Amino acid sequence: MAGLAASAGVSGMRGVRAAVPQVVVIGAGVTGLSASKTLSAKGIAHVVIEASDRIGGRAFTQTQTFGVPCDVGAHWLHNGETNPLVGFARRAGQAPYEAEDEWTLFSGGKWLEGEDEEDIWDEIDDADRAIERAVDWGADVAAASVVDSDTSALAKFLIGPYEHAASLGSLSTLDWDRQNEGTDMFPQGGLGSLVANWGAGVPVEFGTQATRIDWSGGGVKVETNKGTLSAEAVIVTVATQVLASGAIRFGPGLPDATERAIRDLPLGSYNHIVLQLDGDPFELEEDTMVAYSGVGGTAGLLINAGGSGLTYFDVAGDFGAGLTALGDAAMVEFAREALRDMLGSDGVASLKQAKAFAWERNALFGGAYTAARPGRAGARQALKRPVGDRILFAGEATSVSKPATLDGAIAEGARAARSIADDVL
Ligand SMILES: Cc1cc2nc3c(=O)[nH]c(=O)nc-3n(C[C@H](O)[C@H](O)[C@H](O)COP(=O)(O)OP(=O)(O)OC[C@H]3O[C@@H](n4cnc5c(N)ncnc54)[C@H](O)[C@@H]3O)c2cc1C
Repeated sequence: MAGLAASAGVSGMRGVRAAVPQVVVIGAGVTGLSASKTLSAKGIAHVVIEASDRIGGRAFTQTQTFGVPCDVGAHWLHNGETNPLVGFARRAGQAPYEAEDEWTLFSGGKWLEGEDEEDIWDEIDDADRAIERAVDWGADVAAASVVDSDTSALAKFLIGPYEHAASLGSLSTLDWDRQNEGTDMFPQGGLGSLVANWGAGVPVEFGTQATRIDWSGGGVKVETNKGTLSAEAVIVTVATQVLASGAIRFGPGLPDATERAIRDLPLGSYNHIVLQLDGDPFELEEDTMVAYSGVGGTAGLLINAGGSGLTYFDVAGDFGAGLTALGDAAMVEFAREALRDMLGSDGVASLKQAKAFAWERNALFGGAYTAARPGRAGARQALKRPVGDRILFAGEATSVSKPATLDGAIAEGARAARSIADDVL
């Protein structure tokens, strides 16, 4: 293939790359990067292809909008005790620090204190217990069906969309129970930049978009906008929403169980509206979290993230999806009205700049991260099953123990690579 053949085997980068790869890895998010590192460690020749012009996928730090690092996607290092990025961050000089677990609540036009605040935490405890009871019975149903319908919008937001990017009606109880419970951390300088450093040695063919995987013969032929790559196996790490859209076709078609699993793992809606505020209008410690309910919607705020002057104003779930569909201007307007609600006109006056980032409007992702549909918690395991012993799906979607996270995705990339080394080649 013209573009790839010309560059395949070019030295000067770490990793094992060859003119005739044994494995093609599709996507250079953390899953593809992790798969490549494992394949390289095993001396397996492979090519990583990436449709965009950068690595990191849904972990991306940009500085051009605000002049300081801004995490457009993932921002938290979850499961700090076991997350391999934590050790890397220490070695790379981006020493991570522990996230505070402090919340400030605003609802119905006021900051909640005393009994008002306790009522919300009691509601959250009740809802958690109701879902956990269903989990104990093995009931894979919509979380909304077991949570008291009178639960406040703020409590529902915190147990559903803010963690899972999906509202309680779209969340499987069993999948909900897989949420991370370890220590949350933040690296210095942004999580996207940490991932970019972590993956810097991986050789990647940029601007190379997979369009079809032909597995009718012995191995696989991966068709791309730059030509066709032949290999013995392929690791597919693109988001399930991309697969469900048909952007990559398969010949022959995928088994029904795999197709079904892809559709049972849609990406939810979770987007940052990033606010650059003058001074300290909230008068809250940096990295304090605020849960907001008012002016027709809910949001989670991370105040003055890492002292950067940026406040992440996050919308999610059904409300976030509806707002995001209205466009960036509507998203920013909602954040502005919420500022007015919380801080009055001084709060609005402190807003220097705002920018909304909408993952579902980007065809290379189609959303934020997966939540299994009610009744379909088994879909993650189903998607893990190799197809024809040569197509392996991997990513946050196939992680059963740490779904929707970077560390879950990293483990899955390594798992797929090991599986190819052990069972395919
Ligand atoms: C707003 C937001 C906040 C988040 N917050 C956190 C957080 O705080 N902590 C956390 O742990 N996780 C968080 N996540 C989830 C986390 O970002 C993902 O779980 C993780 O990045 C998924 O990595 P991946 O490699 O599996 O997929 P991706 O990052 O989606 O990588 C897939 C890659 O494939 C490429 N691609 C797509 N189509 C093609 C094609 N046809 N051909 C070639 N390449 C293609 C894409 O460009 C992309 O680079 C967040 C995500 C979002 C969007």
